[in-house]
Amino acid sequence: MRVAVFSSKPYDKTSLHDADRDGAHELVFLEPRLNADTAALAAGCEAVCAFVNDDLGAATLAALADRGVRFAALRSAGFNHVDLRAAAAVGIAVARVPDYSPYAVAEHCAALVLALNRKTHRAYNRVREHNFALTGLLGFDLHGRTVGVVGTGKIGTCFARIMAGFGCRVLAYDPCPSEAAREAGAEYVPLEDLLAASDIVSLHCPLTPETFHLIDRERIALMRPGAMLVNTSRGALVDTAAVVEGLKDGRIGHLGLDVYEEEAGLFFEDLSDQVIGDDAFDRLNAFPNVLITGHQAFFTAEALEAIAATTIANLDAFACNGIGLHPVGLDQDPAANRTAPPPEHP
Ligand code: NAD
Repeated sequence: MRVAVFSSKPYDKTSLHDADRDGAHELVFLEPRLNADTAALAAGCEAVCAFVNDDLGAATLAALADRGVRFAALRSAGFNHVDLRAAAAVGIAVARVPDYSPYAVAEHCAALVLALNRKTHRAYNRVREHNFALTGLLGFDLHGRTVGVVGTGKIGTCFARIMAGFGCRVLAYDPCPSEAAREAGAEYVPLEDLLAASDIVSLHCPLTPETFHLIDRERIALMRPGAMLVNTSRGALVDTAAVVEGLKDGRIGHLGLDVYEEEAGLFFEDLSDQVIGDDAFDRLNAFPNVLITGHQAFFTAEALEAIAATTIANLDAFACNGIGLHPVGLDQDPAANRTAPPPEHP
């Protein structure tokens, strides 16, 4: 199949070419993000391959369908950026990579916790300037602390296991509790109890209408004063304005983000020569107790290889059977149970 690979970087090109060893597909690598304006670049392609900040809303899908696209292979587990109803309506099948390396994301999350606690990001800069003073670098023992894991799927369970390994008490909240998470050491409690008891709260649930701004003013008010909040899942789980307030009044003692609700247009690009117009992002960056990485939690060699292999398997399956190996169907559409407004920038 001829496939338009949007938002592609050199590492995508390498990993997808390696996975498509026999050259079954003609991969057309495109740097722009996919949206209604760039959909025309997929003309002549039967499939598109999209990443997390591509926009597969109704307008984009209609534009793709007009140009003959019949399949969207996502290089991600999350599919909150796809309007599944619109895809079904215009006859575009969707598939994803449900499982690549939960370790990659969980380990990055643990890295954020450790760096924030021991202020490694600040220590690194101090030592480079020959400032060996320790004042301001005081951390705390993780051993004996309580960690709250919101969402105990593949990544949340992996993270729970890591934190239990540090000697933490692990609390968990998930509408579908899992035995694997319990075996990893997690104890399920209501969300409100988790927020009230945890020294560290880490988010591992998908972005859906129900989880949009899951962490808002009211829930921040329930958190322990000075608690650490970490989000490696999807930016819009957290209300940025509420978190800025929480950081200012000390309710949030540390914030670790790998995702940001307005990350599309910022993350994955080198903007070091540009002025960023997003004041909320710059405000967050100005706090000494905030550590932000640019959606890199997935970015390990093992994960890239697995993403590419599953993406090619999805393309192979669609070419043979008209359906991806890991299809995303309307039965998985969270909008079917919508009780809250959808995120503006998924
Ligand atoms: P998963 O599907 O295995 O697990 C998600 C869990 O969240 C499930 O157990 C589900 O029941 C639970 N959940 C659903 N609604 C919930 C709610 N309202 N409150 C609490 N829990 C809820 O997914 P996963 O592979 O563990 O990935 C988790 C998330 O991590 C993904 O949705 C994605 O957004 C994010 N992710 C981020 C990166 C990154 O690089 N930063 C990479 C991969 C995935």
